[in-house]
Amino acid sequence: MTSIWLREAPAAPVGARPATTDVAVIGGGVAGTSVALHLARHGVGVCLLEAGEISCRASGRNDGQLLLGLGEHYNRIHGQFGAAAAPVLWDFLADNHRALVEELRAGGIECGLEERGGLRLAETSHEFAELEQAAALLAAEHKPHELVPAADLPRWLPPARGFHGGLYLPGEAIVQPAAMVRGLAARAAAAGAVLCEQQRVLALRGEPGDYALELADGGILRAPVVVHCTSTLARELDPSGLLQRAVFPFRGQILASAPLPAALAGQFPPYAMSSNFCYEYFRLHGERFVIGGKRWSVPGEELGILDDSTHNPTVSDNLLAYAREHFPTLADVAFDTTWTGIMAGTPDGLPLCGALPGQPGVFALLGFNGYGLSFAFLAARCLAEMIVDGQSAHPALPMFAPRRLQSP
Ligand SMILES: Cc1cc2nc3c(=O)[nH]c(=O)nc-3n(C[C@H](O)[C@H](O)[C@H](O)COP(=O)(O)OP(=O)(O)OC[C@H]3O[C@@H](n4cnc5c(N)ncnc54)[C@H](O)[C@@H]3O)c2cc1C
Repeated sequence: MTSIWLREAPAAPVGARPATTDVAVIGGGVAGTSVALHLARHGVGVCLLEAGEISCRASGRNDGQLLLGLGEHYNRIHGQFGAAAAPVLWDFLADNHRALVEELRAGGIECGLEERGGLRLAETSHEFAELEQAAALLAAEHKPHELVPAADLPRWLPPARGFHGGLYLPGEAIVQPAAMVRGLAARAAAAGAVLCEQQRVLALRGEPGDYALELADGGILRAPVVVHCTSTLARELDPSGLLQRAVFPFRGQILASAPLPAALAGQFPPYAMSSNFCYEYFRLHGERFVIGGKRWSVPGEELGILDDSTHNPTVSDNLLAYAREHFPTLADVAFDTTWTGIMAGTPDGLPLCGALPGQPGVFALLGFNGYGLSFAFLAARCLAEMIVDGQSAHPALPMFAPRRLQSP
């Protein structure tokens, strides 16, 4: 049960594990790969240890949407974080987008980047009222957007039915995520990082200045600095228990259609699209319609699940019903591919980027709450600066400091 992205993506360039390195990065998703790239650019020796293949977990199993403002509409971001912090957070995501796209272009990374914006659709009139509030805040802060009343939707998304309007954000984009991460991996390797696959870390021992990472094959990698980029998949590697307490897993599920007839595929613009506060999300890839979400529609909401080798048939049924209700022209289309992926949640919905308290030389970049593509590249650049220079300047970073989630 693999994603269409992993089926298509080229392999990443891998190397042989050294005995020692300056920085050991655990995990080869978008976070770890980006950290390895930026550290290597600083001239730091870096070895990335990935339990499977680069991008084989959430980073190769998501919907490939580069979003602004998380899943929440901007009014809710204001409500949660306040009027001072909300634009700082938004700007971080916009800066991430710019930095990432610059890297993809500079490297000639072929990953289906479509910078045509994103369309957030209202599932109810109440949601449209929230989109209106979001639009008013974006207007006041001079952030590009366009409110789309229901009557105008046919012009934006001809096959759509039953939505109550939408909000268009020109700064959003879509990519083929596995191809993107493996392209970044190739850039990291070219900059001098050593990327090792099939290298599961079982334990982190040692002391400040000399950590020992014990591997499943019996080997050991020694490093004075360690970065956890394992999402929610190896919280036990943090002896302080902070990752166990502050990060939790939940599972998302995606269906991809068989290739649509060209005339039908042509009705869907290449936007990042979603409704219901981003709980349902969809996009076109080539001539396939790709849709995810509906985890909220089953008991337990897929919380606490770490298994991405299976899927929930009820979630599939509910996704199909949603697709056929809102896009009647898809009624006879077969959805021939299903997969799941594991995301990492945190209590405040923000990631961890920085030093783990009480563990000199140990850092984390993880916990993206389902929006890692929107954060990870720039956050990794900032983390590399923290490791090399002791600090990084982006004003959003204090919001991501791991120490905020320490028990009192
Ligand atoms: C269905 C779904 C849809 C999504 N849609 C979007 C979207 O449209 N836009 C968006 O921005 N985000 C989306 N996301 C979220 C996004 O995929 C994640 O936030 C992001 O990929 C997390 O990256 P990561 O590097 O932190 O984690 P991962 O990609 O999970 O990488 C962690 C890596 O650590 C490795 N690892 C674990 N344990 C060990 C160990 N002991 N030793 C060595 N290696 C280990 C794993 O093998 C894995 O490769 C979605 C996620 C899912 C599941």
